[in-house]
Amino acid sequence: MNSHSEVLSGQIRDLLLEAQQEGAGQKELRKILLAAADGLGIFPASENGRVVQDYDKETGAYSLEYAMLLLQQICVREDAGLYEGVSFNITGMTIFNNRFGMENGSRIIHAYLDRLKDVIGKDGFTGRIGGDRFFAVYRREKRNDVIAFVKGADLKVPRVTDKSIHVSSIAGFMEIESGMDASTVLDGINAARRIAKYQTNTTFLFYDDEIRRKLSNDRNVELMFSPALQNEEFQVYYQPKVELRRYHLYGAEALCRWFHNGKMIMPGDFIPVLEQNGAICELDCYILEHVCRDIRGWMEEGRKTVCISVNLSRCNLGDPALLDRIIGILEKYQIPAGAVEIEITETATEVSFLELQKLVRGLRDAGIPCSLDDFGAGYSSMNTLSEIPWNYIKIDRSLVPAGDDDAEDEKRKILLKGVVSLAQSLGISCITEGVETLKQSVFLKSVGCYLAQGFFFDRPMPKESFVERLTAADKGFTKGPR
Ligand code: C2E
Ligand code: MG
Ligand code: MG
Repeated sequence: MNSHSEVLSGQIRDLLLEAQQEGAGQKELRKILLAAADGLGIFPASENGRVVQDYDKETGAYSLEYAMLLLQQICVREDAGLYEGVSFNITGMTIFNNRFGMENGSRIIHAYLDRLKDVIGKDGFTGRIGGDRFFAVYRREKRNDVIAFVKGADLKVPRVTDKSIHVSSIAGFMEIESGMDASTVLDGINAARRIAKYQTNTTFLFYDDEIRRKLSNDRNVELMFSPALQNEEFQVYYQPKVELRRYHLYGAEALCRWFHNGKMIMPGDFIPVLEQNGAICELDCYILEHVCRDIRGWMEEGRKTVCISVNLSRCNLGDPALLDRIIGILEKYQIPAGAVEIEITETATEVSFLELQKLVRGLRDAGIPCSLDDFGAGYSSMNTLSEIPWNYIKIDRSLVPAGDDDAEDEKRKILLKGVVSLAQSLGISCITEGVETLKQSVFLKSVGCYLAQGFFFDRPMPKESFVERLTAADKGFTKGPR
């Protein structure tokens, strides 16, 4: 506690003692406490009339409990509408900790929060949510300064390094309204921050009606998921993969569709929620199991099948039993190696990189091909390509030239050509997704990418339609582009 605050809370304590001696009750004491602290220009926090000021020594922010008490005091004020809150997660703390050590990592956070305290002034305060997540409350007129702060601040942290350190955050904001509950504000700013984290085009968001709708959708997904899984509401759709030289059916990707009350729900509306709450592992195994069951059925009908790829969320990577689980499902349906492929997106953190590498190696040893999905959509790193034994790279549709022949398209052509040639040199096959036109298909062939998937050939289709595709392919009928 700094000495200024000590003096102020000392003054309040004296006031309270005096009132108590004069026979004031709990309610009156609370009123006196609020009025006194307000008059002194600090935000009081009270617990049974006792001022409990609590700092997080490591970072200089208030503890979560104390900061929440302060926030509650603001929420009940008539002028609460003059304030807003921000929740922020400091970017790259793991890297700072690895580079400078944990103790210096804390010094960096401390310096970052000190800068924020300067930005928000004496009317605001900061609290630690946990780890590298914090929140602050301040007067709304400071908004632009706070936005600039979360976007990035250059700090001098003398005991850590002579050079300045650039620190930024992912943040969620919310305007406070009089009568709101402190926990509503904290939930709102945390939700806006979490959603901002998954957006590629921004690092901060304000809580608004769209976020409110999204949260209500997320809650519904969470509640409905388990019964839906039991009721088999999830179905596998198959999207063919085409070999471009002869336009024949090369394989297919299994894509999940959720049918609820007669409506089809697309993966974008539920997969991110299931990835956040961990339920995606159950869904991925369910889809793998259904695909294996379909393949077994086709084999027993004497059909010639093609390799079906199944998406595996990288959220599964923490599960040490994952490899055995996948192999177990294939064994249960006696699926031959090579009939099923696993698609995984790359991962950003070092820990999951090692887990990804271990899993792909394990799958390869078991004869199960693996592909690196959405290549080029994120921050693809070279060691993801060189140190993991992928069979395929699935080039993301964002790298496919749109056909406008403008400068952007030229860049995409150069990148795509480069990726294909790099993959070839590394002995990895390439497939491009999101192919929507003949022009794109012709371009792919011209740069040596002979596998493609996209609406130009087929949209994802229900099992029955895919079986017709299998039958046609089996009879030697090669379906050209539509
Ligand atoms: P993905 O694995 O990259 O799958 C390809 C997505 O691109 C599919 O979207 C597909 O319908 C779409 N697509 C294919 N061709 C075209 C095209 O020519 N143009 C355009 N605009 N889009 C095309 P979908 O089915 O909505 O799935 C979206 C994502 O959801 C998938 O991306 C995958 O990441 C995820 N997903 C789907 N099913 C599963 C699943 O069972 N498990 C997991 N973990 N993720 C899944
Ligand atoms: Mg995929
Ligand atoms: Mg993809």
